[in-house]
Amino acid sequence: MERKKIVYRRHDRNEIPLLPPEVRKKTFKEYSLGLGHTAAKDESYRCILCKKPPCQEYKGGYGCPVLGDINLWIEEIQNNNLIGALRILREKNPFPSICGRVCPQDRLCESTCVLTFKDNGQAVNIGGLERFVGDSIRMSGIDWKDPQDPPTGKKVAVVGAGPAGLSAAYFLARKGHSVTVFEALPFTGGVMRYGIPAPRLDREVLDWEISLIEKLGVEIKTGVKVGKDISLEELRNQFDAVFIGVGSGRGKKMGIPGEDLKGVYTAISFLMKVNVDYVDDMLAPETDIEVPKNKKVAVIGGGFTAADCVYTSIRLGNETHLVYRRTRETSSARQEEWDHLADEGAVLHWLTQPIEVIGNDKGEVVGLKCVRMELVPDEKGGRPRPKPVEGSEHIIECDAVIMAVGQGDNPLAYKDVPGLKIDKWNNLSTVDSKYRTNVEGVFAGGDVVNGGDTVVVAVRHGRDAAEAIHEYLMTGEWKYEKEE
Ligand code: FAD
Ligand code: SF4
Repeated sequence: MERKKIVYRRHDRNEIPLLPPEVRKKTFKEYSLGLGHTAAKDESYRCILCKKPPCQEYKGGYGCPVLGDINLWIEEIQNNNLIGALRILREKNPFPSICGRVCPQDRLCESTCVLTFKDNGQAVNIGGLERFVGDSIRMSGIDWKDPQDPPTGKKVAVVGAGPAGLSAAYFLARKGHSVTVFEALPFTGGVMRYGIPAPRLDREVLDWEISLIEKLGVEIKTGVKVGKDISLEELRNQFDAVFIGVGSGRGKKMGIPGEDLKGVYTAISFLMKVNVDYVDDMLAPETDIEVPKNKKVAVIGGGFTAADCVYTSIRLGNETHLVYRRTRETSSARQEEWDHLADEGAVLHWLTQPIEVIGNDKGEVVGLKCVRMELVPDEKGGRPRPKPVEGSEHIIECDAVIMAVGQGDNPLAYKDVPGLKIDKWNNLSTVDSKYRTNVEGVFAGGDVVNGGDTVVVAVRHGRDAAEAIHEYLMTGEWKYEKEE
């Protein structure tokens, strides 16, 4: 049969409509409205259904971390078969509606789309389509249930109900194992609930995708701190295998003068307080905080967390400044987020390094002292590095400072396990290629292993670990591959 001629539509991408800045900055509703049916169908036709799609490989940090069959599920949209599209998506990822929203597609799958190879072409809106499939099925009222193998009689404990733990639970339950998840906080979702704010991720979406995991019989026990309420050793005795997916989410500060003043918060304390009105000392040093409203706020950092603090602060009525020591291009949040935030009125200070929080005689924050930076070539041939510009000290007036400068270790669950190899950051990067720790029957994945990455990478860890746990449960074979 003659092959249909491929038409490259490089320049007519269907973008997702947004609530106008003046409207969205006054509400905690999701501000990105999603693709409607007509736009989604048209966008699906932009995909040329590559035979060897670069978008679904994962190399050097580009492509799709879960190796999604992107050409196959987009073809199902072309065929008006959204149920088929979701089936394909869920074979690799239990959170397509969430990843469609929060993945940095511009540097993952979409960065490798063949439409971008020539003439400044625009990638297929893979994230928009992924979200469209999940949202359409959720809102159709279909009683969705994933296929599941017959029960194996094996029991697995999962520690942590973030994306890594829930992904492991999902894939293990699909294999027929009985799974119990132990979660320290009074709610599920990990960072997806207490970190990422509702304007970027509608809670109905989060609840729905988690409910589909529970539908497979996964039991989630919230409010149980492993390492305090029950030990990991006890879990090892009660279950056939244990997966540790506790993240690496403890809020931290920068170590500059003045950071103990009233009005200086870690990003995690601030976001937890606003998102779930509950701040837990396991993750956040300041549990009793009053969030700034209608004030002036400076947020320090350049990643997802910093962007989320800025979104949240603006919605609380604050004049909000972002301060980052590098450039916008080297920041790790989605580039479009900075545009959205600037449209909402955020003042973005790139190449600006905070050096001191300034206080008044009552111990309250009144400003953030900063120095401007310039990029200079790296002597060792690495990427240009920021260097302070002499005499460029200046003060950004503010009443509160939020430090979104990365998160630290939270080893409560595993620190007392005899003989367990823990790395110098108190994390478990010590796992081998099958996510096995050096203690038999104990696996780990997600941020606790890589120190902090993305939701979709945590999902992949959970999936691969589930595969390895299944193999262990079925064969009883155990060999930790890293050198002792
Ligand atoms: P977590 O999500 O941290 O989940 C770990 C869970 O384990 C938590 O629920 C925790 O309470 C629980 N736990 C910890 N200790 C114990 C214990 N002792 N006993 C029982 N339970 C325990 N990534 C993206 O892809 N896109 C984004 O837009 C994005 N935005 C982000 C915004 C913020 C504010 C932050 C902090 C991160 C963001 N990330 C984003 C990164 C992403 O959220 C993480 O990489 C991902 O959540 C890691 O998943 P995880 O399951 O390993 O850990
Ligand atoms: Fe090819 Fe782009 Fe479609 Fe992927 S999204 S299959 S790279 S056209």
